[in-house]
Formats: sequence, C-alpha cells, structure tokens
Amino acid sequence: MATKNKLITKFAAIDLESPDPIPLNKAARIIRSGGLVAFPTETVYGLGADALNPDAVKRIYEAKGRPSDNPLILHVDSTVQAENLVYVNDAAKQLMRRFWPGPLTLVLPARPCVPEITRGGLETAAVRMPRNFIARYLIWTAETPIAAPSANLSGRPSPTDAVSVYYDMNGKIDMIIDGGRVNVGIESTVIDVSNPEHVLLLRPGGTGREEIEEVLNMRLELPDAQSAKRSPGTRYRHYAPAIPVKIWHRESEFPESDYSSAGYMGLHEPPNETGKALIFADYEEYARELFASFRRLEREGYTCIIAEWPEEESGICEGLRDRILRAAMD
Ligand code: AMP
Ligand code: MG
Repeated sequence: MATKNKLITKFAAIDLESPDPIPLNKAARIIRSGGLVAFPTETVYGLGADALNPDAVKRIYEAKGRPSDNPLILHVDSTVQAENLVYVNDAAKQLMRRFWPGPLTLVLPARPCVPEITRGGLETAAVRMPRNFIARYLIWTAETPIAAPSANLSGRPSPTDAVSVYYDMNGKIDMIIDGGRVNVGIESTVIDVSNPEHVLLLRPGGTGREEIEEVLNMRLELPDAQSAKRSPGTRYRHYAPAIPVKIWHRESEFPESDYSSAGYMGLHEPPNETGKALIFADYEEYARELFASFRRLEREGYTCIIAEWPEEESGICEGLRDRILRAAMD
C-alpha cells in the first residue's frame, strides 16, 4: 500500500440508526495491516492509522503533507488503554472521568511503547477518547490505539463531512467512512497535564476552559514561549481557506470589501449586504458550520470571507475565536 502511487480509496456510508458492521470491520482490518482510514469523530473527521506502527503513522504525515515534528493524538476506547500509553496522574484521572468520551485531549508523559514518530519526537503523548460511535467501534475492533490528526491536507480547513475528506484525500488513503456531519465542528481542547501543579492550555477547542478549571479547581495557564515549542502544532498556520478571511468586530466598522463578491458568516445580519450571508442560531452552530462554510464559500467563487468575531467568554467561543484568528492570519 504505497502512498506515492495513487490508491483506490474505498468509500462506505454508515447509517448510525442501524450501523452495518461489515465495512467497519473491513476498516479495522485496514488499520491493523498498516493502512489509512478516515473516520468521523464528534469534533472533525480524523485520518487514522495504528498508533503503535511507525510505518503506518509515517503514511499519515505523507498523505497530509504534515510537518513531522507536529505530534498526533492517540485515540483510545478506554481509560485502561490510555494508561498503557501514558503515565496517568490524579488530575488527569479526574478529567477523564468528567470529560471522556469527549473533545478533551490530555498530554502526559509517554510510555516507551509509543513510537517516536507518533509523538513528533517529544517525551509526552496526547490521548483522547472520542464520543462518536464509529470512532470507538473502530478502535475497539482494530484492538489498537488509533493515531489521527484531522483528515485534511495540511493547512486546509478541517473536514466536518465525508465529502470534504474526499476532496482532500481521494487517491491518498485506503478508505473513507461517511458517518454524516460532525456535531462539535472544531477540534478538541488540548491541555498538558504532565505537571499537575501547572496545567497548560495548549489549544482551545470543543471543551470550554471554565469547565476544566472547575474540575481541577485551578486556572489553566497559557504556555510560555518554551512550552509552546513543545506543542509544535500551535506554530503552524491552520484551518485556512484559499480566499482571505477578514474579521468583523460588531462594535467596529464592517471590513472594506467588494461586498457583492464577499461571503459573510456570523450570528447577526451584516450591516452591508454581501453576496451570501450565513447566519447561525448560536455559537455552537457557528462552530459546527465554520469549516464547512469556509470550504463552501471558497467553492462557490466568493473572493473573500467576512467572519463575525465571537464575543462571549465561555464555552466553545475561545476555540471558535482561535480558529477564526488562525484562518485570518497572513
Ligand atoms: P491535530 O492532529 O491537527 O488535531 O493536532 C494535534 C495537536 O495536538 C498538535 O498539533 C499539537 O499541538 C498537540 N499535541 C499532540 N501531541 C502533543 C504532545 N505530545 N505534546 C504537546 N502537544 C501535543
Ligand atoms: Mg488538524
């Protein structure tokens, strides 16, 4: 299964009401034999390989064009499986109990069984138990933790439906499992719990900071320059569509643009009429639709995107602001 030659990518749609185990079992066999399978999680679609097989993990980096020092998250289907991969302290246990399965990734000291390539050469590894049924079934049936970054080409918006995965990955991976639209829409929150006295927020995401702080009864710290280096993913431009993204703060002027060829997204109607306006009911919906809307406005030929800045301090908003800011970076 060489990645250089174009592969035939199998595509299987799964009905979550009555899931057919045959394609899922086939996907698990592909993972076991060192192949690549894209599958839904509750956050975004993941591009999975056997986390303990260095050759398989290498293929993830190749298929995505991902820098090799950007470590992967190991997806598990039980806390016992996590404990076989990393050294779990009390703070991490509390967080697992409260937030797993769910969009919270914990960075902890790695056990020797985790290959260096999966950890991007670091001493730590990142673990998460996804909530999505297909993801968990796959991990359980493959009987191995699954290393999975988002199933997009590096630098592109993360895929939140199987068609977006197909656009980026057809011919590069062995199989895509279509489990419908995701329900969170942005990636997991990543925190470094390796020192329980100083827990670091490495990436805001699907789990709100204040909920985590409540469980730990302490404030999350932001990484200084040194520890930011330890989470290399945060260095790269991410999540960006091919057209420019401009941010609108509601208190400020609407950004300059040729409005008829601009696409807008936000909770409130834009003050100027734009070519298209995608209005969301709440911040959860904004997050769920963000990446798909980036891709859609780009595909429909708009020349720029104007995104309303999410003002709220709680819940998904910190993660949503982070993704919009990164998409708007030059
Ligand atoms: P992605 O797979 O694109 O969702 O990115 C996962 C992110 O998790 C990486 O870009 C890192 O920033 C972070 N991460 C994964 N493993 C580690 C680790 N061992 N130490 C610090 N950060 C990590
Ligand atoms: Mg990603």
